[in-house]
Amino acid sequence: MLFSLPLDSFVCQTPHCPDFHQPGRQNIHLRKFYGPEKRRLLRCRTCGAEFSETKGTPYWGSKLPPEQVDRVVDHITHGNCFSSTAALTGCHRTTVARIVCRAGVHLEQFHDQHARDLEVTSMQADERHAFVGEKAEQAWDFTVVDPKSKFVIEGQVGARTAELTKVLLVNARERLANPQRLVLFTDGYLPYQTLFPELFGTPWQPPRQGKRGRFPRKAYRIPRGLAHVRIIKEYSGKQVVRVRTEIAAGTQKRVNLELETLGYMKPNTSAVERQNGTARRMNPHLVRKSLAFARLPIHRRTLAQMVQGVYNWCRPQRGLRQPLAEPLGRRKYAQRTPAMAIGLTGRCWSIRDLLSFPCGVACQE
Ligand SMILES: [Zn+2]
Repeated sequence: MLFSLPLDSFVCQTPHCPDFHQPGRQNIHLRKFYGPEKRRLLRCRTCGAEFSETKGTPYWGSKLPPEQVDRVVDHITHGNCFSSTAALTGCHRTTVARIVCRAGVHLEQFHDQHARDLEVTSMQADERHAFVGEKAEQAWDFTVVDPKSKFVIEGQVGARTAELTKVLLVNARERLANPQRLVLFTDGYLPYQTLFPELFGTPWQPPRQGKRGRFPRKAYRIPRGLAHVRIIKEYSGKQVVRVRTEIAAGTQKRVNLELETLGYMKPNTSAVERQNGTARRMNPHLVRKSLAFARLPIHRRTLAQMVQGVYNWCRPQRGLRQPLAEPLGRRKYAQRTPAMAIGLTGRCWSIRDLLSFPCGVACQE
């Protein structure tokens, strides 16, 4: 059998079917095994459509053996550039690029489907600099991280603008179970401060002074559970000379409560700064002073999505491990990935598990 996914993970992918993309309807059945790798041919009982278990995954229609696709993704997410990955796996550089595109689009959809209703009480947001082709073509990585589980809640790639910051915060808000109970830690980048009340607060129309003229501009109330802290670094040249924290919205009491649950002495963005270092190690396009920078915007964007998916679901972190109740031989700890720590899954996923999870139809190029 090629993949180990149970049958109820699959959904019908025929657009006119009543069970189109509806999980848990018990409509998918095994029709037969086929091919030398014993792939499963599945059948939807509602509409009668038959499809391969690879449909809607990066393996669909690929002539490479699935093991080779996994190896490419593994090498790339250990920070190897496209050409060294090609040499290590025995395929061409352009094949590596194609796999990155497909896997990146797939993992973006996977993240969109699975990272929902997250029980998060604080978030850290930051941007890291990178470029495509030449230094003038800037492509920043915007990230929002949950400091408790180290899970990357949302990532965006593009120019460092207020519009992209808005997209980032809106998408991050959609993923939370309770966006009204949250402390946001950011750097001194101004759009966070202007966008936070608008996106997380509750709108309110202040009364008009007198009876004539326009109504005053709409204001936003910050509920008691919300706060926004800015950590502003002051530079002299390239050196940080002073770090100043400022509560841009909400109360000191709420911030102190959150710091206590996180175990921090003072507000900081350490989790997202650490994630910046990890991302630069995992993503060849972000390595400093190397020639492995991205040549095409599509590769830059899809590789960032791929690295984010593998980081969240496949890579255990030492800081997240938990002591076992009873040691298993010499093993004293249970290793956990960020997705396990945030409660989305109970196990560490392999790259095969992640890529073979059917997500839809869009990743067939
Ligand atoms: Zn169907």
